[in-house]
Amino acid sequence: MTPSGDYYEILGVSRDASQEEIKSAYRKAALKNHPDRNPGDKEAEEKFKAASEAYSVVGDPQRRAQYDRFGTVGDVGQGGIPWDSGLFDDFADLLGGLFGFGDLFGGGRRARRPQRGADLRHDLRLTFEEAFTGKDEEIKIPKEEPCDACNGSGSKSGQRITCSACRGRGTVAFRQGFFTVSRTCPQCGGEGEIVRDPCQECRGSGRKRSQKTIKVRIPAGVDTGMRLRIAGEGDAGEKMGPPGDLYLFLEVEDHPFFNRSGEDIFCTVPLSFPQAALGTEMVITTLDGEEKLNIPAGTQHGHRFKISGKGMPRMGNHGRGDLYVGIDVQTPKRLSKEEKNLYAELMQLEKEREERGSGFFRKVFARLAEGR
Ligand SMILES: [Zn+2]
Ligand SMILES: [Zn+2]
Repeated sequence: MTPSGDYYEILGVSRDASQEEIKSAYRKAALKNHPDRNPGDKEAEEKFKAASEAYSVVGDPQRRAQYDRFGTVGDVGQGGIPWDSGLFDDFADLLGGLFGFGDLFGGGRRARRPQRGADLRHDLRLTFEEAFTGKDEEIKIPKEEPCDACNGSGSKSGQRITCSACRGRGTVAFRQGFFTVSRTCPQCGGEGEIVRDPCQECRGSGRKRSQKTIKVRIPAGVDTGMRLRIAGEGDAGEKMGPPGDLYLFLEVEDHPFFNRSGEDIFCTVPLSFPQAALGTEMVITTLDGEEKLNIPAGTQHGHRFKISGKGMPRMGNHGRGDLYVGIDVQTPKRLSKEEKNLYAELMQLEKEREERGSGFFRKVFARLAEGR
C-alpha cells in the first residue's frame, strides 16, 4: 500500500492541476531528488520514488480519474509501479534521458533481440606537425570482441531453452520497502531464454573482453575538437548483434612558433628598426620547407604578410590554407656607444624635419591648435 500520502501533495500540486502542471511538477521533483544527483542520500531516493509513484498514477489521465474516485489504483498498491506499462519510457523521456531508470527500479525491459555493441571513445593527442602531415596510428583499445570459441553465439550448439528462474518472462519481482519491483532476471539477463550448452570461454555471452590493435589513418589537417568515427570498431554486439563504432577524439598540441585558426597558420617574426625601415629579405622555416619573404622598406610593426597556400591542408578538400607572418618590430634595449650615436643622429635629423614643419608631431599639434 502507499503510506506515502496523497499523490497530489507529494507532487505539490492542487487536485485540479492540469496534466501539464503535474508533468512539470514531477519533472522538477525527479531531477532534484534523482539518486544519481544525490548519491547515498536515502531521503532523496525515497522522495524520488514517491514522486515517481505519484506521477505514475496522476500523470496518466485514466489512472488519475480512478485515483480521484477511489483514492487508490489497484496495481500500484499491490505491485509497485507497473514498469512494463510503458510509463517507464515516459519517465526517461520526461527527464530528457539524463538519468537511468533501469538500475534504480530494476528496469527489466531489455530487448530480446540482438543488441548493437556500445560505441567507444579513445582520446588521441597529436603534435602540430602530425596534424599537418597526417599520421598512421596504431591504437590499442580494450573492447568486447566476438568470442572465437562459439563464433559469438554464446553456445556450441545454438540451442536455447526457456529460463527456469523467470519462466520466460525476463523479469523477477520482489518486494523492497513499500515497492514491489520487478528486476531483470539475473539468470537469463532479461532474455527469457538461456542457451542449453553455454560456451565455456565466454560463459554464454558470445563476447570476450580483449585488447585490440586498430590501424587508423589520421588525415592531414585535423584539429583539436575533431572526432573521427571508425565504423564497426566499437564493442561487438550482444548475441551476434552489430558492433558499435569507435570515436577518436583528437587533440592537437600547441606549437612553439605557429598558431592556427582553421586552415590558416599564423606566426610572428621579430624585425629590428633598421630592417623595418630599410627593408630586408628573410627566410621562414615553414612546416614543409623554407619560404623566402621579402620585407619592403617602411614595414610597420604589426603588419601581416600572407604566403598563400602554405597553411594547413584542407580536410576532405584539395589545397591548403594560408600562412600569415606577423611583424614584430623590436625596440633595442641595449645600445653600444656607436649605435647610441647613430640613433642620436637620427633623432637630430627628425627634429630638424619637425621644425621644417613636415614632422609627424608638428602636424598633430598644428591640427590641435586649429581645433580639429
Ligand atoms: Zn563463446
Ligand atoms: Zn530468466
